[in-house]
Amino acid sequence: MVVGAGHAGLAASRFLTERSIDHVVLERGEVANSWRRERWDSLRLLTPNWLSRLPGQHYDGPDPDGYMAMGEVVEFIERFAHAVRAPVRTGTDVTSVRPAAGGYHVRTSRGELHCRSVVLAGGACNLATVPAFAAAVPSSVAQLTPLTYRGPAQLPDGGALVVGASATGVQLAAELRRSGRPVILAVGEHVRLPRVYRGRDVLWWMHESGVWDQRHDEVDDLDRARRLPSPQLVGTPGRETLDLNALTALGVELVGRWAAVRETSALFSGGLRNVCALADLKMNRLLAAFDEWARESGREAEAGPPERFPPTVPPASTRLRLDLAGGEIGSIVWATGFRPDYRWLDVPVLDAKGRLRHDGGVVDAPGMYALGLPMMRRRRSSFINGIEDDARAVIGHLVAGLR
Ligand SMILES: Cc1cc2nc3c(=O)[nH]c(=O)nc-3n(C[C@H](O)[C@H](O)[C@H](O)COP(=O)(O)OP(=O)(O)OC[C@H]3O[C@@H](n4cnc5c(N)ncnc54)[C@H](O)[C@@H]3O)c2cc1C
Repeated sequence: MVVGAGHAGLAASRFLTERSIDHVVLERGEVANSWRRERWDSLRLLTPNWLSRLPGQHYDGPDPDGYMAMGEVVEFIERFAHAVRAPVRTGTDVTSVRPAAGGYHVRTSRGELHCRSVVLAGGACNLATVPAFAAAVPSSVAQLTPLTYRGPAQLPDGGALVVGASATGVQLAAELRRSGRPVILAVGEHVRLPRVYRGRDVLWWMHESGVWDQRHDEVDDLDRARRLPSPQLVGTPGRETLDLNALTALGVELVGRWAAVRETSALFSGGLRNVCALADLKMNRLLAAFDEWARESGREAEAGPPERFPPTVPPASTRLRLDLAGGEIGSIVWATGFRPDYRWLDVPVLDAKGRLRHDGGVVDAPGMYALGLPMMRRRRSSFINGIEDDARAVIGHLVAGLR
């Protein structure tokens, strides 16, 4: 039994069918439900179209260097579900999975079933991670997450405080600022990247140089690699870079990491300059590694000359406190990360922090597997283009186990 009909669950189904394994894909909504219901209206993929690949299906439209809007992503995944004839039962919410003789007992909103193996493909971004101090924010301020935010018109009047400067936070800060509101962005640790490097999409470099293929058993600190923030990237027709300098130019006010709430005030860290310097350093190291790869692999001619980008220029001084009850801010958007929802999983496979215990997708329980988690087997595991190798390997394990 496969939980979830996103691209990961469907890819699992494709390989199960190839190996003649009887199975069903249970989906609480529709195929590609997360892309239909849990993303904001203006979102486009940050991966270019030529990188949108599923087993046996590549992007074949007129704009390989473009970035899909949500409707196109849904269509792409639906097309895949049809092509692989995935046995999806939509409108079927899995409410409990627990061990039973010879496998697992599964309860759903539409009845019960027994299976020998379970593939967890319910997604890595079902819940928004919000710090505990959000509970202390005055009730006059509206609070949203990327799962509830659709567009600027939804927010009450007044300024917006966006928390988190990874892909989601920088995109929402820019969109809110362009809608005419004052926007403050609280910036913690982040990953700065140019959209285009030496004339090539920066993800071309990640893909071709092998950075994205680094395996889970090759990295020094796997726990940290799995929690790395998403890069500051946006997919726009003009392939613009959306880093902190770009946001400052738009008129977004940058402050440090939001550390606490005291009485009615948000308290921000004074360390913005340091996190910016660290992000610049890491970006330059990565670009130097790309240069070295191009030189050593004889691929120089495929890109323009090496470039370096101006350092991030944080404000000369940042405010350390903001009165949330003073009327300056009408809403807060928490772009502080996502996590999977395992509340329905009655199997002891979570660690003390609620994370799934698995080794490259082989979960720490007989016959249980996972797909689609960050850095699950490789750096590209949580992206659409990373599913083929992961699903093939994980289903290979599953089949070997059954036999
Ligand atoms: C904001 C955002 C932007 C992203 N941008 C990109 C990008 O540009 N490029 C890229 O390659 N990747 C991107 N990703 C990452 C990744 O591709 C998506 O998260 C993708 O949706 C993951 O696919 P999945 O199949 O693992 O999970 P999902 O697409 O989330 O599919 C899981 C499915 O399981 C269902 N489900 C969950 N729980 C249950 C249950 N208990 N019972 C039944 N059904 C259940 C859900 O309804 C859903 O349909 C982005 C992610 C986010 C959050």
